[in-house]
Amino acid sequence: MGVKSIPPAPRLCRWPRWRLEVEAMLVHQYQARFVRPPNPVAQHLRCFARLDGDIGAALPYLNTRLKGHQFCPDPPSLTLKFPGKLVTLTGREIAINMVKDQDEAFGLLAWLIREINATWERRGEISPRFEVAPPPRLLDILKLLPRTNCRACGQPTCMVFAMQVGQGAQGLEACPALEPENRQKLADYLQSFHLLD
Ligand code: SF4
Repeated sequence: MGVKSIPPAPRLCRWPRWRLEVEAMLVHQYQARFVRPPNPVAQHLRCFARLDGDIGAALPYLNTRLKGHQFCPDPPSLTLKFPGKLVTLTGREIAINMVKDQDEAFGLLAWLIREINATWERRGEISPRFEVAPPPRLLDILKLLPRTNCRACGQPTCMVFAMQVGQGAQGLEACPALEPENRQKLADYLQSFHLLD
């Protein structure tokens, strides 16, 4: 079973009709719907993907692998944090709060479904986790920044920048003074929290 061709993006945001099929175990296909937020100047979309399989039992294992931002055991739901967006997984739905267009949503959904199915297949090797992983430590980020408070990143201090980086709201490229070696260390650290693209 392969990926079906994706039709051209329609002008309207509501798009409930077609399906994408992927090789999978728990999830074989989904139906995506896009909604533009009520704010008339909003440029982003919200995406809701209805799944053909129930992924609730896989969420504690996914929480272990993907370091969830929030986890609720009953009914099961897992929220993941990515740069600029939150993704919430429940039994039969994946909701993404902000995507810039449909292509971005489909890319993220394809990756998530691969992760869900791979995690479910390998669940015997993974310890399920029913709490969320600790967030990135502010001081671990700050100690790798130049700490000159030069404001070139648009923030008043390196501390404020570190907080934003730790929340996924800023990328490392915004700090021009960051040493290459520390940039790589920070990138590796943030990647382990899925806070870099
Ligand atoms: S640009 Fe870098 S060094 Fe300057 S304030 Fe921002 S984080 Fe600190």
